[in-house]
Amino acid sequence: MKKSSCASFAERLRQSSRKDKRIIRVMFELTYRCNFHCAHCYVPRIYRNRPELSTSQVFKVLDQLKAAECFYLGFTGGEPLMRSDAMDILSYACRAGFEVALYTNGSLIDADLARALARLRLNKIDITIPGFSSEVFDRVTASRGSRRKVFRAIELLRARRVPLALKSCILADNEAEIPHIAALAREIGAYYRLDDQLSARLDGSRAPLRCRPRRATAHEAKRQDRARAEDLDLCACGIASTQAAITPRGLLKPCLMLESPRCSILKHGLGPAWAKLRREVARLSRKAAASPLTPSAGMTSPCLAEWQLAAR
Ligand code: SF4
Repeated sequence: MKKSSCASFAERLRQSSRKDKRIIRVMFELTYRCNFHCAHCYVPRIYRNRPELSTSQVFKVLDQLKAAECFYLGFTGGEPLMRSDAMDILSYACRAGFEVALYTNGSLIDADLARALARLRLNKIDITIPGFSSEVFDRVTASRGSRRKVFRAIELLRARRVPLALKSCILADNEAEIPHIAALAREIGAYYRLDDQLSARLDGSRAPLRCRPRRATAHEAKRQDRARAEDLDLCACGIASTQAAITPRGLLKPCLMLESPRCSILKHGLGPAWAKLRREVARLSRKAAASPLTPSAGMTSPCLAEWQLAAR
């Protein structure tokens, strides 16, 4: 399928699912553990010890998503490859017919794992690149040798023609290196995405926001303009109408950046959990519409997670 027809198919699917309130896109946090220690990370350090679903429980959740005709699954973390059963989970999801993407810091991918990942024929492997030089890269991840490992992983995956996407959060630390990372992405033919929407931690700590560049980037200025608009649709991204996220304990929640509302899929079943989520998000949206917030309250984009934080 050509790129343009893929895009129009995805848009048609989104629109019809939005109408039917069908869940079609899920980000699944397999673990909060990570071998890096980025200061801008939205996962509080203490969450790394939290319990996780067993392999068979993850499979049960995937079975329910399949039965609900969910289409796209993004496995993320923490660092999802910290789980020793990560490949079993990825294979299970691929065999079930999902469009599967892996969001990883890339550092744990050696030659054997690259070979195994290539065999899975994932939709994409999305690797976060926090810097171009070793100095900046290793400083952001607070992990010596991290750049060497991640760049090696990219070479290994490229050699096996695995579809790659790269992304960077714009930080005060790496701002000057973004053009070099973008050039690298162009050189290797990888899609490149910039994220300048740093989020507070899941426990409400605003510490990650201190990693923002000192001046607002052009992207951020545009988002602030949108956040000022009167007709804010805080759910325009599709949360609780076509997409949701799942925590390492199997709790369904509206998006990665929101801790609540949430509901256990294994305890209540996906259908009731999805219905509860939609009700709660609708209630929150009404509340947000009744008390709109602006960038002066710390809100920088039309986003329910940002509204919740600013309203605290
Ligand atoms: S690599 Fe990602 S999950 Fe790990 S600490 Fe950094 S931002 Fe957090």
